Amino acid sequence: MNEFDLIGRYFARPARRALLGVGDDCALLSPPPPGQVLAVSVDMLVEGRHFFAGVDPRALGHKTLAVNLSDLAAMGAKPAWFTLALALPGADADWLAGFADGLFALADAADIELVGGDTTRGPLTLSIQVAGHVPAGQAMRRDGARLGDDVWVSGALGAAAMAVRHRAGEIELDAPMLAACSARLDWPSPRLALGERLLGHASAALDVSDGLIGDLGHICECSGLGGDIDWLQVPVDVVISHLPESVRQSAALAGGDDYELCFTAAPSEREAIVSLSDSLGLPLSRIGRMRAGQGVAVLDADGQVLPLARGGFDHFSVP
Ligand code: ADP
Ligand code: MG
Repeated sequence: MNEFDLIGRYFARPARRALLGVGDDCALLSPPPPGQVLAVSVDMLVEGRHFFAGVDPRALGHKTLAVNLSDLAAMGAKPAWFTLALALPGADADWLAGFADGLFALADAADIELVGGDTTRGPLTLSIQVAGHVPAGQAMRRDGARLGDDVWVSGALGAAAMAVRHRAGEIELDAPMLAACSARLDWPSPRLALGERLLGHASAALDVSDGLIGDLGHICECSGLGGDIDWLQVPVDVVISHLPESVRQSAALAGGDDYELCFTAAPSEREAIVSLSDSLGLPLSRIGRMRAGQGVAVLDADGQVLPLARGGFDHFSVP
């Protein structure tokens, strides 16, 4: 199988919205509809760094696209098209079929079109660039949070981080627990519907990929504010609810890979956000608020700052 057979067999599909898709020197694409702008992002996944060797190729196809769609979701953008750059150690037909399967299942569900890419031999590296459309002036940026805004997070946090620790050999999960945590790590759900429907309600948003505290820290820094999180309001995944509190805290607050959305909104939006949660069937938890100052603090039931939050989470080690 040469490079062009490989592209033709696994990645070339008939163009839909693209004027010209896979197969020429460039794809030809129409600009966004009037009143909308392009939202563009790229992410790279490197074996050994972002995923472990031997991961199910279907899950990898899904995840490579999912982490990019999650960035579109965080801005409130609707997916439009993507490109795919692959470095592969060899042309393994089973691996490629699985990867393409996982990739296109999510692409079809998200209504996004593969329009081109690049394929080369090398250490397994997967990179996708996505583009989406968002109404001009309405994208949810990291610098939009205002003093007194509530802080919200979607879904549940912490399970993916436990799977990472198991695979890294730091902890030993039993089989059912490993399966549940691995499902969260390997098959993240980009919160696209939530992102689009938060437009006009949220003042700032991002996706939680590096851990809640660090990621909310980006909103704080960009918005020139500090943030308080109430530990008891943080939606810790039920899968890890029986673990010691220190473990749940490090997984839910400092673990990554959840790909939930963290966003800020004025208190006047509470009712709208609760009904959005109902209509999406997705938990949305109000976990804190934006305050003057800088940095993120995590508070216990008495409003006392938990020692783990002091000094930032760069030094937050796994128990
Ligand atoms: P060029 O030499 O112009 O860079 P390539 O030979 O790299 O073109 O690619 C040929 C065509 O196949 C191009 O249209 C490119 O976008 C597409 N392509 C290459 N790799 C992929 C891939 N992994 N997924 C989708 N399209 C791809
Ligand atoms: Mg090329």
